[in-house]
Amino acid sequence: MAATTPTARIHRGKAGALVSLARRLRAGELVAVPTETVYGLAGDALNAVACAAIFRAKGRPAADPLIVHLHSARQLGLVCVPNAAALRLARAFWPGPLTLVLPKTAVVPSIVTAGRNSVAVRVPRHPLFRRLLRLAGTPLAAPSANPFGYISPTTAEHVRAGLGKKISHILDGGPAAIGVESTIVDLRDPRRPVLLRPGAITAAQIARVLRVPVAEPRASAEKENQRGLLAPGRLARHYSPRTPVTLHRKISAGALCAARADEAFLLQRRPRPGAASGSNVFWLDAQGRLPGVARRLFALLRRLDARGFARIHAELAPELGLGRAVNDRLRRAAAR
Ligand code: AMP
Ligand code: MG
Repeated sequence: MAATTPTARIHRGKAGALVSLARRLRAGELVAVPTETVYGLAGDALNAVACAAIFRAKGRPAADPLIVHLHSARQLGLVCVPNAAALRLARAFWPGPLTLVLPKTAVVPSIVTAGRNSVAVRVPRHPLFRRLLRLAGTPLAAPSANPFGYISPTTAEHVRAGLGKKISHILDGGPAAIGVESTIVDLRDPRRPVLLRPGAITAAQIARVLRVPVAEPRASAEKENQRGLLAPGRLARHYSPRTPVTLHRKISAGALCAARADEAFLLQRRPRPGAASGSNVFWLDAQGRLPGVARRLFALLRRLDARGFARIHAELAPELGLGRAVNDRLRRAAAR
């Protein structure tokens, strides 16, 4: 008899399902989980075999470290050596979309951190993921639940489309509320926090809490990043649709009138009434508000990618606040 490839089961967040998924996680199995940023592929962060399975399922290079999720900041000392700056940021922003890079402890397997002596940690806000973390009773490593390099998933269906044949269980917590991955800050030197990845918590918000400026990675660090050494999520090409993407500061009504029908236009906001608006014109948020733009970005890129357009012309967001995170993901989607 021909072997059939099983497809992942989608679970709703009923109490019984959570208990059984937590038991599976403790036994070293993987579960895709909802978070407020994007869906994650979770495994016991203290179990090297479970973490190896995460890398395998995603096709993720071993040099790209995982983020470790905790139920509470009280567990920080288990996996890392927190400093006063980390505790202040934890008080200000956790549970929430902020990841801190700190020196790791010995219990964290080196596969999680790709051999580094630092670990990335976060306390997430999504209520179902929080209940699962509490029931599992162990920190959970969870990178985005997509095949490596493709657009991050913001719904359970996105996870099933990408990894449904590689994993068995997906917990459905509805569409992700934020829609782009967490902000990552390197806090190993608390006097010089470095922004490794922009997200919903902005560098300005972090600087206000720490009362020191937040640095951008040095040019030399950027070069290391190109080789995937510092923060591989910063690889130039990432979050990429198969369709080529061209970026524009602004897409005018005139450009839409002259547009080819086989190319898609991804606008920040709805065009004014009367402006040309064919079936190849899409917008991220009717009013162009950034939270809506970020929330819909990955889902819309996926939809356009599935439509077989020859090219996606995407309009950049204003370069401030959440707009920086949106533009960061758009630039990586456009990199070849
Ligand atoms: P993902 O969860 O798929 O968004 O990927 C996690 C990202 O966190 C990685 O690609 C890195 O950019 C970053 N990261 C995880 N651990 C570390 C670490 N120890 N040092 C620096 N960056 C890290
Ligand atoms: Mg990812």
